Amino acid sequence: MRSITTFDLQYAHRFYGFRGEAQYLHGHTGTLTIEVEDSVNSGVNMVFPCNEIKKTAWEVLKNFDHALVLRKDDPLLPAVLDVYEKQGIRNGAPNNELRGPAFRTELATAYPECRLVVTEETLTVEGMIKIVYDLLKDKLNIVRLTFTSGDNAASEKYEPHLHIERCPLCGIALQENGVCPKCGYKKDIK
Ligand SMILES: [Zn+2]
Ligand SMILES: [Zn+2]
Repeated sequence: MRSITTFDLQYAHRFYGFRGEAQYLHGHTGTLTIEVEDSVNSGVNMVFPCNEIKKTAWEVLKNFDHALVLRKDDPLLPAVLDVYEKQGIRNGAPNNELRGPAFRTELATAYPECRLVVTEETLTVEGMIKIVYDLLKDKLNIVRLTFTSGDNAASEKYEPHLHIERCPLCGIALQENGVCPKCGYKKDIK
């Protein structure tokens, strides 16, 4: 069975080098749907708590929310950084509170201090799905990702590949020592 969660990301981007209006800087509300598959955890009668899927994903993906996403070779990138630098906000501002942990993968690098994500490839909906899977595949047993943004939508399916031991009392993933970080349940280890 699957547990499914959906949330929005608001971001600005452009398709650098694209022959169409998307080559101009513009913004979207993108909607990401994450489907996680496992057996039904009989203790709580659910696959995985959806608010926990969202919490795990949001911790990383909030770096995309109210952010500018540019491809690494886009000449807007040094231009924007130059303006941020001169304005004194390149390395952060007191009201920038959406900072997730900085990340660097083969597909994207997040600079949460200035709400910027630099990507290897153009950030299409397909590109977003590749980046999201890469960031979350070791944390969640994702079997499908769907991302919609404006008129564009893409979806990809994956094989479940993680074995996650879940708490029978609150449903979230147990730590390696068999203890639930949320409710304190301790697995009987024989
Ligand atoms: Zn767009
Ligand atoms: Zn628990």
